[in-house]
Order: sequence, then C-alpha cells, then structure tokens
Amino acid sequence: MTSVDLGIPVTRRTVDTSARPDTPYLVDRFGRVATDLRVSLIDKCNLRCTYCMPAEGLPWMKRSEMLDTDEMIRLISLAVRELGVTNVRFTGGEPLLRQDLVDIIAATGSLPEAPRTSLTTNGINLGRFAEQLAGSGLDRVNISLDTLDRETFHGLTRRDRFEDVIAGLEAAKEHGLEPVKVNSVLLRGINDHEACDLLRYCLDRGYQLRFIEQMPLDPQHGWDRAEMVTADEILRLLGEEFSLTPHTAERGSAPAERWLVDGGPATVGVIGSVTRPFCATCDRTRLTADGQLRSCLFSQTETNLREPMREGVDDAELATLWRETMWAKAAGHGMDREDFVQPTRPMSSIGG
Ligand code: SF4
Repeated sequence: MTSVDLGIPVTRRTVDTSARPDTPYLVDRFGRVATDLRVSLIDKCNLRCTYCMPAEGLPWMKRSEMLDTDEMIRLISLAVRELGVTNVRFTGGEPLLRQDLVDIIAATGSLPEAPRTSLTTNGINLGRFAEQLAGSGLDRVNISLDTLDRETFHGLTRRDRFEDVIAGLEAAKEHGLEPVKVNSVLLRGINDHEACDLLRYCLDRGYQLRFIEQMPLDPQHGWDRAEMVTADEILRLLGEEFSLTPHTAERGSAPAERWLVDGGPATVGVIGSVTRPFCATCDRTRLTADGQLRSCLFSQTETNLREPMREGVDDAELATLWRETMWAKAAGHGMDREDFVQPTRPMSSIGG
C-alpha cells in the first residue's frame, strides 16, 4: 500500500513567495496568520461512524510512513519556537490509540512559551487516560457525542461503546480537562430529534455543546448537501425549547457562533462550516500523522515534511517549507462553488 493508494496527494505546487513579507510567522496572501496547529496523530479509529468510515475501515497508513515520537515532537517544537504557533490540538483518527500520546503532550507542554493544548477524541478511552493526560499537561478536551440513545449510538458508530464515552466525559471533568466541549453532528432522520436533549444533557453537567454541520470529508462520498442539517435548522430546533440570544463576546477566529441559552451564562455553539463559513478568520495549519502539511482542511495539495526531515534537512529549511505552504493557503474551502472538489484524503487522516 502506498500513499497514492490511500488517495493522498503527495505533491505541492511551486509557490511564488515574492510578495511575502519578511516575517517568521505563518502569514498568507489574505492577511491571516496561522497560530493554531492541528496535529493528526494517527489515522486509525476504534469507531466506524457511518459519516466518516466504511464498516470495514480504511487502508491504514503504514507505520514506516508515520512520524515517530521524535519526529512529531521536532515539528511541533519548530512550529512553536519559530513559526508563532500558540495552540496545539491533537486529533486523529482517534488520538488515544497512539501509544506515545502522553509523551508528545508532555513534550509540547514543556516547550519554552508552551502552547495551550487540547485533544479531540471520541472519548472511548478517556475514562482510562484522563488522569494521565491531565498530569502530562493537557489543558482540555473536545469529545464527540451525537446521541444520548445507546441503540442510536451503536447504529451510528457501528460499535456498542456508548457507556465508555459517557465515562470519558465524566473523567474529563473530574480531572479538570475543562471546559469539556462536546461536538455533535446532527443527521437527518437519525438523531436530529435529539438536539434539545443533547443541549439539556450538557447544560446539566457543565459541558459546552457545539453542533457541527456535516462536511463533505467522508471517503464514501456519501455527503449530500440537500440532506445536511444546517445551522439555521439547528437553531430552529433548539428554539423549540430554549431561548437563544447571540453571545456578544468577540468571536475572533473561533469556528463556533455562540448563543446564550435562556439568558446565560450557559452557551451553545453552532459551527456552520458549510452554510456559515469562517474561512476569512481562519488561523489553522495542519500536520498529518504521515508528516504532510496542509494549509486547510480542504486542501488539494500537501507539503511533505517527512521526507526532507528524514533526508537530514535542518530546521530552517523545514520552517521555510512550512511558511511557503501557508503563504499559498486558499481564501476558503469553496464548498459553495460549482467546481468544489472534495479532498482525496478522508477526515479520519486529516483530523477535525
Ligand atoms: S474519526 Fe471520529 S468521526 Fe471518524 S470514525 Fe472515528 S470517531 Fe467517528
């Protein structure tokens, strides 16, 4: 199996950087500065969510193609020391399946001017690892939970692990990985009737709920815009039981529009990635588990940092590659354009 078999782009366009200002930071042609590094640590997952993966899974990355612990720490360290990264989020696949996760988080947290760290997880193994993760310096977690019904969970994820996720949520709170954020995707006819129940559940426990519009990143190419539950619909569903008023705090580069629930202070977030894009304020740069740099979730090209690193290039050259990649970042994902093309790499190996 090669990266081509996985549908992973391996080349990068030549970038004209003649107009790029002389700055060490990750600036792009549209005035944005990337300070938020998303690191996908592994493409494997212990769920098989229907909107993310086929039941049989995917052809996983070969171990030799994946960055090892030292390589991963070297690139994260470079981003923090030289490129102005101030936040690092670890994602997957399911990042808790990576055995050196705690080492990578601890190394990230011990960097001078350590970034804030967070983890996006399905929560299955969090009950076992939350204490260790908190001890390693992890600041907070985002946990995916689309339903409160065990049977629906089983149907959606093809695994009977609902109780494990609930235990993971509780462990995250117990060990101070807060605010505990819950990410939910509503699917028409499957769990869209649970919007209010999910919000009430999170409010009762002090979790911050964010609904996310489903995005076209599934390898089965089953996403159908007409079927997607939109941000407007989510707000309408929540409005049946709750009074929502826009949160007045500065949103900055945050993807979620936040709403005060019943006057606050509790809030709910809606991430309208498709119908309310926030690309104009995007501050993200992405590194995959196999050492490919992506300037956007929807990039059609990647920059291979793994090979130059293994060929012995120094940090200065890696930093230049990183800066050039971000300079070439597109203005937006273009999902509204007729010629939009879904990226070949699936969500599970890009990271959320
Ligand atoms: S990566 Fe996330 S969405 Fe995909 S199968 Fe795993 S838990 Fe589900």
